[in-house]
Amino acid sequence: MKTWLVVAVLLATVQGCALTVSNPRALQPIDGFVPLADDARVWVEPGYGAYGERVSAALPAAIAAVEAAHTLPFLRPPRVYVCGSEECFHRYVYTPRLSAAVIPDNRVILSPNLNGRESARLPGLLTHELAHLHLGQRIGHYNSTVPVWFHEGWASLTANGGGAEYASDAQAYAAIRAGRRIDLVARDTPDWRHRAGAFGLNIFEFYRESMLLVGWLKTQDEARFHQLVLAVQANTDFEIAFWNVYGQSPATRLTGFFDGVQGNAVFNDNGQTLAAPAQP
Ligand SMILES: [Zn+2]
Repeated sequence: MKTWLVVAVLLATVQGCALTVSNPRALQPIDGFVPLADDARVWVEPGYGAYGERVSAALPAAIAAVEAAHTLPFLRPPRVYVCGSEECFHRYVYTPRLSAAVIPDNRVILSPNLNGRESARLPGLLTHELAHLHLGQRIGHYNSTVPVWFHEGWASLTANGGGAEYASDAQAYAAIRAGRRIDLVARDTPDWRHRAGAFGLNIFEFYRESMLLVGWLKTQDEARFHQLVLAVQANTDFEIAFWNVYGQSPATRLTGFFDGVQGNAVFNDNGQTLAAPAQP
């Protein structure tokens, strides 16, 4: 009975992208990959060099996007592990249905999905994962003082929607108007992260709503947002950094966003014009 409860909780907290919580197997050494002859940042499962070349070609733009958004360089050159087979990917990533992940400790792994049915997602998802890697290099893998909504919202925003493609802005606004809102008062701990299910959101709505929240924060005051992300990257506790920059809590500050969604007619437009700011 107890085992089933644990399993149920684990299943309920599984998230759809990117960062995975600590997993004992993920800490095993990565082996069986070989570097591309012309790009040592890309390590591929043998036999999948063509996939690796696609990743290599996408890497410069992805790195540039992350360094521009974070306004700091990578501390160390990023390395990307490319799995051409499902067996390879699931050797390192247990969470189901992911197309890419950053596993402990700060290792980016791409799944064969991005070489197949989700090829078009490669540039965006690569950028999204590298955003996690970039922050992880400075403050540690998946640092729990940064709430999940900020981790995911900022990475998705940096990737111009990458990682948040499967729900539109309109769907996220509808969820908000239905009362399914990310609770900005909830604090994460190393052992308990507030993910989609904690707010009655599905994983896709959660990523989109997170991206809209972070995007609103940035658009409202670019200078302050820059101060915030510099403080976060300097490993200041997120809540303290937020108060220092804005003089109020995230929940209070972002009331303006939620009120706007609730009251502003433009947000009630359920047409396609507002959906998916991420363009190819
Ligand atoms: Zn992510």
